[in-house]
Amino acid sequence: MVKKIALEEHFLCPGFIEYWNPTVAEMPAAKRERLLSLNTDFGEVRLASMDKAGIERAVLALAGPGVQAERDTATAIRTAKAGNDFLAKEIQRRPDRYSGFAHLAMQDARAAADELERCVKDLKFCGAMINGHTLGQYLDHPSLYPFWERAEALGTLIYIHPTDPVSVAPVLQGHPGLRRATWEWTFETGSHALRLIFGGVFDRFPKARLGLGHMGETLPFLLWRFDSRTGPDFYNVGLKNPVSHYIKTNIEITTSGMCSAEPLNCAIAALGHERIMFSADYPFERAEEAGHWLDSEKLDEKVRADIAYNNAVRLLGLGK
Ligand code: ZN
Repeated sequence: MVKKIALEEHFLCPGFIEYWNPTVAEMPAAKRERLLSLNTDFGEVRLASMDKAGIERAVLALAGPGVQAERDTATAIRTAKAGNDFLAKEIQRRPDRYSGFAHLAMQDARAAADELERCVKDLKFCGAMINGHTLGQYLDHPSLYPFWERAEALGTLIYIHPTDPVSVAPVLQGHPGLRRATWEWTFETGSHALRLIFGGVFDRFPKARLGLGHMGETLPFLLWRFDSRTGPDFYNVGLKNPVSHYIKTNIEITTSGMCSAEPLNCAIAALGHERIMFSADYPFERAEEAGHWLDSEKLDEKVRADIAYNNAVRLLGLGK
């Protein structure tokens, strides 16, 4: 079993369960309660699951949507800070096993930038996880440039986690099986990342770093098509570089919730294995399954070790 770091691993704490409840409202009660219990455990159950998967270290982040769904900005700022302080205390209990991503109130760009800086510098977190849009506003909005300026200066990873869209697309209506993790979140989150590229955020902040789960939310599969359709014969989108440049340069991806060779091999071919990191998406996915998958997939051993562990050490400044 190869040793691993996982970085899309979730928790919940007081103050955040009310935001999370609607996302599991349609689940059978027993499953909902089990997920709540796993999300709020930082002890034996979580650690045993990590051990079975070979995960030495989990980077923990609040399960969404968190304050991305909070209508009162002052409450959002205060609650995010409390969540980060809570996580910092849990990390202090097991600094050998846990690290953290900051939770940020994107309702206020400067407050989010300040909290990111506090979390990175004082709490030693290794970036932030933002649960998609904040009340319908995406991360390419010009009001958020001060946030990106700070994130770039800190050199820290900003990971976009899927969330429900503002409204259900007509094409998905009538087919609840297509909602959320089946397909809806991939389209929503991939589109969110593309908004950052097409909105020129990475032209303005060329060293900004974006994280995506689920093997890059299909973007690695589509590089040629993005470049082809945004070239001079089609839409001239006014970017300094081909779209693929930003996907290869500004985006780092994880394997969360994707235990199969085809998208992994596509991502390796498209982005290079140095930009791919293992994740399990615990407790929403089975860490053991994800760990076993990476251990047994047909891969060069150096590539396997880099994806499992070394890339996270290098990119997030993690490890022992
Ligand atoms: Zn997740």
